[in-house]
Amino acid sequence: MGPFDKFHEECGIFGVFNHPEASNLTYLGLYALQHRGQESAGIVSSDGSALHVHKAMGLVADIFTEPVLKTLPGFSAIGHVRYSTTGSSQIKNAQPFVVSGGIGNVAIAHNGNLTNAMEIRKELESYGSIFQSTMDTEVIIHLMAISRERALLDRLMDALVRVQGAYSLLLMTEDTMIALRDPRGFRPLSIGTIDGATVVASESCAFDLIGAVFEREIEPGEIIYVDKKGVKSYKPFVPVKQSPCVFEFIYFARPDSIIFGKNVYEIRKELGRQLAREYPKEADIVIPVPDSGMPAAIGYAQEAGIPIELGLIRNHYVGRTFIEPKQSIRHFGVKIKLNPVREILRGKRVVVIDDSIVRATTGRKIIKMIRNGGAKEIHFLISSPPTRYPCFYGIDTPTKEELIANSHSMEEIREYITCDSLGYLSIEGLRHVVGGEQKPYCYACFDGRYPVEFPVRIPKPQMPLFYNL
Ligand code: 5GP
Ligand code: SF4
Ligand code: MG
Repeated sequence: MGPFDKFHEECGIFGVFNHPEASNLTYLGLYALQHRGQESAGIVSSDGSALHVHKAMGLVADIFTEPVLKTLPGFSAIGHVRYSTTGSSQIKNAQPFVVSGGIGNVAIAHNGNLTNAMEIRKELESYGSIFQSTMDTEVIIHLMAISRERALLDRLMDALVRVQGAYSLLLMTEDTMIALRDPRGFRPLSIGTIDGATVVASESCAFDLIGAVFEREIEPGEIIYVDKKGVKSYKPFVPVKQSPCVFEFIYFARPDSIIFGKNVYEIRKELGRQLAREYPKEADIVIPVPDSGMPAAIGYAQEAGIPIELGLIRNHYVGRTFIEPKQSIRHFGVKIKLNPVREILRGKRVVVIDDSIVRATTGRKIIKMIRNGGAKEIHFLISSPPTRYPCFYGIDTPTKEELIANSHSMEEIREYITCDSLGYLSIEGLRHVVGGEQKPYCYACFDGRYPVEFPVRIPKPQMPLFYNL
């Protein structure tokens, strides 16, 4: 393992400036973003003269009890939820990071993944920088610390011109909040208002929960600077080709959110419709794999004119953090989460819809479950193209070798999954649904065309030990 034993992150960030209930709102915002990370959560608040921090492993609602929130006073706060594989689930890697020193007190929360962090870290360590964590985010702080500029924004720019990759960032000092997206705009980030205060969140669903008004998305390469005087917008980067992450639409974001100018549910449903056009099937029922396959299955059923049925029932009380370190127990996890409805499945020809296949271990279990439930024919259709390449920009995917579509033919995958037929959405179909050639997105996990280079020697990520259903 290299210095960054955690290369792959999925995260959510939330911030509020100038509101008497800053930490309570941040708690609620993180609660709405819990799907973006379940390993650790943290909030840093400011009362104008000092930063207060609380971070812990676990889920937002378990960590931030009323007494804990009372220890986070002030009018501004930023928060973070983090997902990672268990290998490095360490509290030292929980965010936001808080540093004090020459640059004053600064808290930082990051969603994304820097592709050249390791190089920079090695260089900084050779000059004597001492890192507290194994997170890529920390290099931004160190670069800010060694900057010869005085103003915070200038120090930040000094750091940002050095880093590459994906970053939606929130920074906070005692009396300012800064929110920004990298020039390519990999990860979403939106700005809103509540009672005259400014709020920022990875996804708009966080605004809905607290009753904030969604104003707009922060643009790729845009920096929002908030202090008592108001909100300022800067666009200091040389414009580059944008590449927001198309996988946010497919799987990662919540369906009720608006990201990259579109409602996620509508996109997923349209992906299902497109799937029906590409794979018309003679079938009796369409079954979604809950919850991620739900909107696409509705779209498929509507386009194909086949009734949709809930042939799999999900136990909603199983946390997403059902983490067990053995492959065999991961399969068991699927059974804990899903159960087939035999009365619906018996003797039927079924189309089963899921959003993606990564290793196919979950998919195989689910198909076997449906077969055991009595289905007579099973067509497994996936509302995204084959995932053949790992992500280096902040979504947790296994190494190339572990991605089943990278190392196996369609027929081999079908045989492994044990379905009667298998179909993936075409890349052209996906592109068409999200806006065609005019709308640039990152499709690298499907086509291997990486918008930002990454180091050749990539540390092998820990195996993700469970997948969200
Ligand atoms: P598989 O069948 O490959 O074992 O797992 C596929 C399932 O994992 C799909 O239902 C999909 O919703 C979920 N999934 C896809 N990508 C990710 C990811 O990046 N992280 C997690 N935790 N789950 C994912
Ligand atoms: Fe998103 Fe895939 Fe690009 Fe990663 S490689 S940013 S998951 S589209
Ligand atoms: Mg799923």
